[in-house]
Amino acid sequence: MWNDPLVVGIDLHGYEPAWLPYNVAARMPYLHGTLQGARKGLRVHAGEGVDTTNEMLALVMYLGNRPAGSIKCRIGHGTGIGRLLRYQNVPSSAWVLNQFEPLIRERFPIEVNLTSNKVLLDMQYNDHPLGSFVKRGWPVVLGTDDPGVFGVTLRSEFEAAIRNGHITSKDELRKIIADSIYFSFADDDLKRQLAKKLAAGIKKAGG
Ligand SMILES: [Zn+2]
Repeated sequence: MWNDPLVVGIDLHGYEPAWLPYNVAARMPYLHGTLQGARKGLRVHAGEGVDTTNEMLALVMYLGNRPAGSIKCRIGHGTGIGRLLRYQNVPSSAWVLNQFEPLIRERFPIEVNLTSNKVLLDMQYNDHPLGSFVKRGWPVVLGTDDPGVFGVTLRSEFEAAIRNGHITSKDELRKIIADSIYFSFADDDLKRQLAKKLAAGIKKAGG
């Protein structure tokens, strides 16, 4: 399976309230070693409708201590991080946020799936923390989660993000698309090609 070029990474998913940090941390060395050897990425469903503290802390504990570039990783959903931002004046939230922020900025973008969160978490589009992530300058990547189940496309997710005020300028839009390429699980050659294509597309569209 690891030799298949169509497999770019794996997704870690489970019943979040039952995931304890030491469970995640205990599995991480094996996962990390396997993915690093196979040069594949990891997407972790984390903070999806629950507090961020469990898996997120485990991730920070483990991956945060690895050298940068040793594994590509994305936080899937991360809606619970919106709660941390809302309560950032509370010392415990501020502490967790301080641990996460540098890692999110540099290494672990948040993959946002607006429609999935609306359907499964009853989080309305305009109530989603995506806009706060964008305003903070964090790298985010829009995703469809399960296009076959939710009947959405990447285009319709971008449309929802713009219509609901999460993306408010061309600069923000350009950054999200550029970050999507930069933080993708593609190899460097393909990333360079995509970045070139993006620049040409932006030029053609008049900036
Ligand atoms: Zn999902």
